Amino acid sequence: MCACRCGIRVHLRDGAIRYIDGNPEHPINKGVICAKGASGIMKQTSPARLTQPLRRRAGAERGAGEFEPISWDEAFRILEERLAKIRTTDPKKFALFTGRDQMQALTGLFARQFGTPNYAAHGGFCSVNMAAGMIYTIGGSFWEFGGPDLERAKLFVMLGTAEDHHSNPLKIAISKFKRAGGRFVSVNPVRTGYSAIADEWVPIRPGTDGAFLMALTCELISQGLYDRDFVARYTNGGQLVIVDPKSPRFGLLAVDEDADPVNPLYPQNQLWWDRHSNGPVITHTPNTDPNLFGDFTLTDGTRVQPAFQLLADRVRTHTPEWAESITGVPAATIRRLAHEMGITARDQKIELPIAWTDCWGNEHQTVTGNPVAFHAMRGLAAHSNGFQTVRSLAILMSLLGTIDRPGGFRHKAPFPRAIPPSAKTPTGPEGVQPNTPLAGLALGWPGSPEDLFVDEEGGPVRIDKAFSWEYPLSVHGLMHNVITNAWRADPYALDTLMIFMSNMAWNSTMNTVEVRKMLNDRVSGGETEGESEGETEGETRGEYKIPFIVVCDAFHSEMTAFADLVLPDTTYLERHDVMSMLDRPISEFDGPMDAVRVPVLPPTGECKPFQEVLIELGSRLKLPAFVDASGARKYVDYPDFIVRHETEPGSGIGFLAGWRGADGEKSMLGEPNPGQWEMYAANNCIFKHEMPPSYRYMRNWNRGYMEWAQRTRLRRWGDPILIHLYSEVLQRFRLAAQGKWPGRRPPERLAKRVETYFDPLPFYYLPLEVQATDVEKYPLAAITQRPMAMYHSWDSQNAWLRQIHAHNYLFINPRTARAQAIEDGAWLWIESQWGRVRCMGRHSEAVEPGTVWTWNAIGKQSGAWALAPDANEARKGFLLNHLIADELPALDGRISNSDPITGQAGWYDVRVRIYPAGVEEEKSVFPIFPALKAVPGMRSVPRKWLAYFAGKEIGE
Ligand code: SF4
Repeated sequence: MCACRCGIRVHLRDGAIRYIDGNPEHPINKGVICAKGASGIMKQTSPARLTQPLRRRAGAERGAGEFEPISWDEAFRILEERLAKIRTTDPKKFALFTGRDQMQALTGLFARQFGTPNYAAHGGFCSVNMAAGMIYTIGGSFWEFGGPDLERAKLFVMLGTAEDHHSNPLKIAISKFKRAGGRFVSVNPVRTGYSAIADEWVPIRPGTDGAFLMALTCELISQGLYDRDFVARYTNGGQLVIVDPKSPRFGLLAVDEDADPVNPLYPQNQLWWDRHSNGPVITHTPNTDPNLFGDFTLTDGTRVQPAFQLLADRVRTHTPEWAESITGVPAATIRRLAHEMGITARDQKIELPIAWTDCWGNEHQTVTGNPVAFHAMRGLAAHSNGFQTVRSLAILMSLLGTIDRPGGFRHKAPFPRAIPPSAKTPTGPEGVQPNTPLAGLALGWPGSPEDLFVDEEGGPVRIDKAFSWEYPLSVHGLMHNVITNAWRADPYALDTLMIFMSNMAWNSTMNTVEVRKMLNDRVSGGETEGESEGETEGETRGEYKIPFIVVCDAFHSEMTAFADLVLPDTTYLERHDVMSMLDRPISEFDGPMDAVRVPVLPPTGECKPFQEVLIELGSRLKLPAFVDASGARKYVDYPDFIVRHETEPGSGIGFLAGWRGADGEKSMLGEPNPGQWEMYAANNCIFKHEMPPSYRYMRNWNRGYMEWAQRTRLRRWGDPILIHLYSEVLQRFRLAAQGKWPGRRPPERLAKRVETYFDPLPFYYLPLEVQATDVEKYPLAAITQRPMAMYHSWDSQNAWLRQIHAHNYLFINPRTARAQAIEDGAWLWIESQWGRVRCMGRHSEAVEPGTVWTWNAIGKQSGAWALAPDANEARKGFLLNHLIADELPALDGRISNSDPITGQAGWYDVRVRIYPAGVEEEKSVFPIFPALKAVPGMRSVPRKWLAYFAGKEIGE
């Protein structure tokens, strides 16, 4: 039900759900199920279910929730007509943005085939800094794509991780780890969830983890506690960087121009300064060993230094004392932790008797592990300094020699990937053409300014300005910018915005009050030029600034109220789904793994899986991937698409890697197998490919693995993936900003920004919002996390889970609360420079004194999610988003409140003050919004029923 993708078993009685339990045979959760998973039964029966396609009633205002039911035929007719017109004129006027779904390979394919660049999922406002910061450094990242090997680790350090992130799998792993005597340290402003069972809680101020990590790195280097051999061979620490400022290649890696680069896209002709011969050699030349420190001059007079020397110089002044004043973590603690990490990695080494061969032909008899493991997520990522913070973490992990080694961090297929991965977007507006698929992917991995998706003036091509000079490495897009940009027609206006499974009018928007106005705002005055669907004939009001909004969701959320067209989605129990290698598989450390869901119940009412909507639309619009050569529909339905679609004709690669080939005898690659679904169903719905032990470790540099990964087309190239302690990619952008890059340059107004933040070495800076805040007036950091029992905003319609959380509090350290005369349980105001919210507070020792925090998305708009208008969620529950801004003032206007490198939303950067509410004030939250109405097709439920048994609701 959530992104952890545990295996479940749904038990039916007379066609209704009796109960749900964890699947003991499933490798992810091994039978464990969480509160949410077991309560899926109430999700299925929720009165908030949408059950019919709906059209906004003629003349009704958006947001008023006035709809009329229409047939699917009518819904498809409206969409086909509208989208066909857009596609033949200007495909970028159609935008498709999706939430935390599990079908991005399909949604991305649809958008690309349509020809729009305006596609992304929710990564830009979730944890893109985590993905990008790690992948641009070590070629892999946490969660689906890699994680801590807690089976063998001795020390586990978790940073900025929500209380049940990666829920059941991580809970199982931590419990085993602790029973085996491992030590668990949690670095987090808040001590709940995992942090509550840590052996040591290190409270830290939000947004300062970068300083903490750099101080640890400073200590490791100054104490000589880094893994010298690992750094020398497997990172670019030994590679020589041109340090002569007059050189046109200043800051780039020195190469031997006469040597074969092997792969020009990922050249292999960089230089080391060999310790034995005291001269330059091509990197990894046999019997050489690089100097990690020094200052050298090449024969042509170019001054060079090893990248590691530059890193050591960078962190030298970043002492624990320096970090203490920023992070609030005592210098002695930082020093002690650095020492503990260093000696655990050095003195408790693991040697596994596994022979393997590296990419340079050296044979190794064992695999070595340095048993210090890390896990981190949104607490590091959701800041506008998050990319450089995550780079700092990846570098610390690398210095400890823990990458893809036992007891450290291990990749999961299809990772590791090249740095940066080879997928690219188009590079200019000409990549978007009428009636033509997009000339590249909508989302890619820029390696230099030439890979940006910009026009001749350097302006953005995408509506969210991703891959422009404002956010060059915005590899997951910036969904949080879409509504504001489209409303402002900057860089242009949209025609149709389709949103799937994302609550952009509530908890997924940083500026909720204003965004709701934007969704409902019209071009000022005058006649409409062409009426929108739903508009009464002859109306004289201007057209909506976002003319047509389509929302596909299973539930009546705050967002559905703003739709012109609502498409009712199924629940996860009513449809086929794939956890695909082309998207987010469920791979384990030891090999690729994917999974399917098969429906256990028929769709409710007229609900239709969103995948079927896309296949239908793709066929009607005759998008090439969805029709045959004659233009006839190619796929009967989604299951048929999954079985028969190949990434290219005859590639043998489809959405599922298991049971391929005509009879299901092949895996990873093979012709389509008509019986593939049945074979998955007969095998617990999972496919697992176990790699031989010699391919399971050191995959960045493992020849056997690389050859296998190329054969199975998990990887395009077989070159070693050296860790980028020093990021030449970032330096290319910085050179462009300095006017020294031979190619593209940023517009003048952005040059300073790019030059500042595209530092090839990690650095710490105050988050942009904090830079723009009077911190004397607003001294506290305010952050959120989702509660263990609810998955974002999805679960407030769940009768069982509501009994755990029906409203939230602001949690405040007692010292901080008392300083403001705020009693435990009292009503109070929390105020930022952008707005204020009235809520209830609780004293809690489990939060550091400079931080206040709450659950995200428990507070609801009255009437949404089929809750009673006076439900606790609406009267006592509050949304912190009202205090957060999506844009910050900039010299020339406004700029998104996002990381300047990746565009990651700076959710956790807001600064606030708190003060008691007056005794005369109302005892309810502020702000409050008008109650939403139920929409046609929602079943009315007597408010009294108290029990449910296998499909029967039993009242008092
Ligand atoms: S963690 Fe997520 S996938 Fe696993 S049982 Fe709970 S809700 Fe289901």
